[in-house]
Amino acid sequence: MTFNDFGLNETLLEAINYLGFETPTPIQQKAIGPIMKGRDLIGSAQTGTGKTAAFLLPILNELVEEHEHVTGTLIIVPTRELAIQIDQHVQGFAYFTPVESIPIYGGGDGLGWEQQKKALISGTDIIVATPGKLISHLNMGYVKFDKVRHLILDEADRMLDMGFFEDITKIITYLPKERQNLMFSATMPPKIRQLAKQILKDPVEISIAMSKPAEGVLQAAYLVYEAGKVKLINRLIADKPDVQSILIFSSTKKKVFEIVRSLKRHGHQVEGISSDLEQHEREEVLLRFKSKRTRVLVATDVLSRGIDIKEINIVINYDAPNDAEDYVHRVGRTARADATGIAITLINEEDMYKLQSIEELIEQEILKLPIPPDIGDSPKWNPRRPTFERNFRSRSNKSGKKGGGFRKPRKGK
Ligand code: AMP
Repeated sequence: MTFNDFGLNETLLEAINYLGFETPTPIQQKAIGPIMKGRDLIGSAQTGTGKTAAFLLPILNELVEEHEHVTGTLIIVPTRELAIQIDQHVQGFAYFTPVESIPIYGGGDGLGWEQQKKALISGTDIIVATPGKLISHLNMGYVKFDKVRHLILDEADRMLDMGFFEDITKIITYLPKERQNLMFSATMPPKIRQLAKQILKDPVEISIAMSKPAEGVLQAAYLVYEAGKVKLINRLIADKPDVQSILIFSSTKKKVFEIVRSLKRHGHQVEGISSDLEQHEREEVLLRFKSKRTRVLVATDVLSRGIDIKEINIVINYDAPNDAEDYVHRVGRTARADATGIAITLINEEDMYKLQSIEELIEQEILKLPIPPDIGDSPKWNPRRPTFERNFRSRSNKSGKKGGGFRKPRKGK
């Protein structure tokens, strides 16, 4: 199958060619046809599968053929980074067309707000928005959504995790009843099913199994006491002078700061990114990393979902992620498309059971390595769940969902 088979407009095919896409990915093969026919759709697919192009191309195709200069498409996403990224995809695909888009998200300056307001008043073909910021504009009363024909909810599970359920429901009340609805979600918990039922009409269902890191990723775990982690990371980075891009994930902002400080002290070219930074600072840090001016980036999970940085050679998980699915998202930053990559996870004695849950989820054993003896001793492999976790699980999670067993209880549950 090729992109020519969809009957897309020449200008889009030209852009696709220009971007170097040769064949449609599985989700594109399955979704583009039904979306072009106007069907509602629910897609179980993660970032990295090519889902953005899967929903943008059919919509852009319609816009190229009948361009009205009104807000006809609303894309709702969980984070500003994803909003910017999707907006950039639109710019790329629509390069040879008159189609325009604007990202609406918080954290900008006054000018940003005014620009957003202007675009919302006069109408822009495609709006890519985070729920909170969009609600702020909606509350002011000037937003015109009466011509919206396409609603896309991207990373729906993430949005519900972030507590946007009510905002999304409220935004939908501003839209015309007759419209096409597309929903994408990496996971399909019952709440997502419920939201889908509320919003979608007779949807086509597509599931792209990608709950596993790409084939090209070499996965390994070092068994290391907490006190030895910083030393190990310094060694791992120093041992690989030829590697251009290294991304380190940590669960907390505090650790991001500590890791950056230690790596800097050892002379590594490193920056940190977390929600503590202002929006423009986050963008600048990301840009320097993307353009390879920064070799090592240390990040909290803000970056692990949705963000498309190409050609990361090594992903290091400084600690086991708190949710097995987050491991897949983190590791998904390396070996995208056909490339190869390395994912290394540092596991202390308390987190061994988390590694075991990850192995269950990805149905794959991860190579476990002791740390080099001159750095220190390694704890023995013993993936016993801590007592409080066992008690919690037996009381509150009898279903024992595979791979998600150590998911933290959410507020209000
Ligand atoms: P997404 O899952 O939409 O975030 O896309 C992941 C990455 O794959 C992005 O960098 C896209 O530009 C790229 N991509 C999407 N579709 C294709 C394709 N058919 N061929 C090659 N790369 C693609």
